Amino acid sequence: MTLNISQALTKIPAELRSYLTPVISHHEFSGQLSPRQVNQLASLAKTDASAIPLKLLPLAAAYALTPISDFQVGAIARGFSGTLYFGANMEFAKTQMGQTIHAEQAAISHAWMSGETALTDIIIDTPPCGHCRQFMNELTSADTLQIQLPDKPACGLHHYLPEAFGPGDLGITSGLMSEKNHMKHINTQDELVLCALHALNQSHAPYSQNYSGVAVQMRDQKIYMGAYAENAAFNPSLPPLQVALVQARMGGHELNEIQRVVLTEMSHATVSHLIDTQYVLRQIGPLLECEYHQIDE
Ligand SMILES: [Zn+2]
Repeated sequence: MTLNISQALTKIPAELRSYLTPVISHHEFSGQLSPRQVNQLASLAKTDASAIPLKLLPLAAAYALTPISDFQVGAIARGFSGTLYFGANMEFAKTQMGQTIHAEQAAISHAWMSGETALTDIIIDTPPCGHCRQFMNELTSADTLQIQLPDKPACGLHHYLPEAFGPGDLGITSGLMSEKNHMKHINTQDELVLCALHALNQSHAPYSQNYSGVAVQMRDQKIYMGAYAENAAFNPSLPPLQVALVQARMGGHELNEIQRVVLTEMSHATVSHLIDTQYVLRQIGPLLECEYHQIDE
């Protein structure tokens, strides 16, 4: 068992621990629980399935990487399929704070990269920060998304973000997590480049049109993809490298296991991820290069 999961297991109710320990210890566990598993946990805890995610937040928080704050936050997103997706905050020492991934962003991008096209709720143990409220307002399901906090009835996102500015104010009707295929091509047989291209084709970049994707390959050859998640308010946008790093982390990896990284983006866009991607990678591993493929319009 890696990360701080052994310790986190001691923080969840004993009746759930014996069921979850082998599930979470399995080498293929990737921070997700199926609806069937959630129902089994509910019957063990003699409670409703909707009450289970709050009890699991310490497990999600075990995935945090916090060299700056030492403040671990866990979040769980529930997809329309009913599957639960863990997320945790991730910080990158020696970079500017804007590179930080919030726990809610991690859980949402985890669900998105796993094929979910909408979320029903987000479960967290402190009210979401303003940055995350704005990030969630970009989602396809923003109007119906429920925020579940401990000891409170679930409330809609717009309760926490009244009079919101969002995609509709800029004429955008297709939200984050909606199914996309930008139909871009690269002539290559390189699997990692093709994975980065796949992420690019899924990316949400309606404001800059800079469709972008990253693929990272780990020491054990596993590949994780990250699509760019742009936001109407610009700053809460989540870069493609960050989305890929969330997937690697949820796969149980340490970031120093990354061996190769490919970034793909459009050649004539008004924004670029190249410099920031190179910069963050240099802090993760001094020898990590960013392989770069630009795509013509
Ligand atoms: Zn936040």
